[in-house]
Amino acid sequence: MITVEEALALVLENSFPLEESEILPINQCLNRNLAKAVKAPIDLPSFRLSSMDGYALCLHQSNIYSIVDEIKAGDATNPSLKIGECVRIFTGAVVPDNADAVIMQEKTIRKQDTLTIETPVNKGQNIRLVGSQVKKEDFPLEKGQLLQASGLAFLKSLGIDEVEVVRLPKVTIIITGNELIPSSEKLTRGKIYESNSILLQSALIHQGIETQLISFTEDSLKATTTNLKKAFFNTDVVLVSGGISVGDYDFVKQALKELEVKEIFYKVRQRPGKPLFFGKKERVFVFALPGNPASTLSCFYVYVLPLLNRLKGGKSDGLIRLSIPIEHDFKSVEPRALFLKATVQNKTVRILDRQHSSMLVSFAMANALVYIPEQDILLKKGSMVETLLLPNSILN
Ligand code: AMP
Ligand code: MG
Repeated sequence: MITVEEALALVLENSFPLEESEILPINQCLNRNLAKAVKAPIDLPSFRLSSMDGYALCLHQSNIYSIVDEIKAGDATNPSLKIGECVRIFTGAVVPDNADAVIMQEKTIRKQDTLTIETPVNKGQNIRLVGSQVKKEDFPLEKGQLLQASGLAFLKSLGIDEVEVVRLPKVTIIITGNELIPSSEKLTRGKIYESNSILLQSALIHQGIETQLISFTEDSLKATTTNLKKAFFNTDVVLVSGGISVGDYDFVKQALKELEVKEIFYKVRQRPGKPLFFGKKERVFVFALPGNPASTLSCFYVYVLPLLNRLKGGKSDGLIRLSIPIEHDFKSVEPRALFLKATVQNKTVRILDRQHSSMLVSFAMANALVYIPEQDILLKKGSMVETLLLPNSILN
């Protein structure tokens, strides 16, 4: 059995950005990664502009200026100033070509058309120069850059309407288990409500990825093999839920073998999620995730997410990891590495109750996972623990 670190290294080693890309309008590019560096078609700003409400001055020795005009944001005028003259100007307006500086209005006294300035003014003050953010023909955003609201807005500010992004990975989900029924049915003896499909689907949507197919499979070798075989058609990643452990009715491992999926690893020294399988058949990746819902999601965040991120063109190694002081003592009775549902608040982290891999309730409240390496059994309040921020952590 391999360690968490070895397993993650194998995932990253095997990951690559998908080669295909598509050109999309900016408003469809949220959460997508650039397939190419973007070249700036213009200087930004494209004209010298005022960063203050105040007066644009043609400097001289005296602190008295005569006001000869007014320029507001959007105006195209370019009044010619003589030495000792100024114009009233507002934030975002074009600074006249022969003005040297802008003084903020709070530092001036105006009487009709005469302005007295109360502080010394340096040349260039409060003027944003052409290209001071980005120069024309430069490449401000690199290949692989994830586009968030800010990135999309930045591209718009350059007048760019469409960009080339890496195509999204196609993901197929297979849910195994005879005991699973949909919530629309009445619960009967031995059955449970199926929850891993919405779990995985939602976690994928959070990454901007729509699931292209979900299929449900009974616990038999034939059904599992048939469904898995179909799942390999036109996909990049197959996620299998359940049936990967060592029970007599766990058929996923055998089905993967029959379909000649190459095993990259099986079983990781961790809790939850020990019987995790990662493999590949030609260009299609397979994760078989242990079916206990908290194991499924923990494995998704720790191992599947980095793969998806790389496939869609990103560079990240997965969830952000921070060292954060723990709010309480902690004692583990488990030699395996642990991923524990936790909440980060007020710069400390608290491990939640009800950690069992069958329990989703703590996960539903968590915004982080605390990672306790193997054999790290006793932790004192205030000691630093490695904490993986979940994608919802900014809102929770
Ligand atoms: P397995 O990995 O198939 O051995 O399943 C482990 C445990 O997780 C069992 O108690 C299953 O009933 C439960 N489980 C498996 N798949 C799901 C699912 N899709 N939704 C909810 N619980 C599940
Ligand atoms: Mg099962």
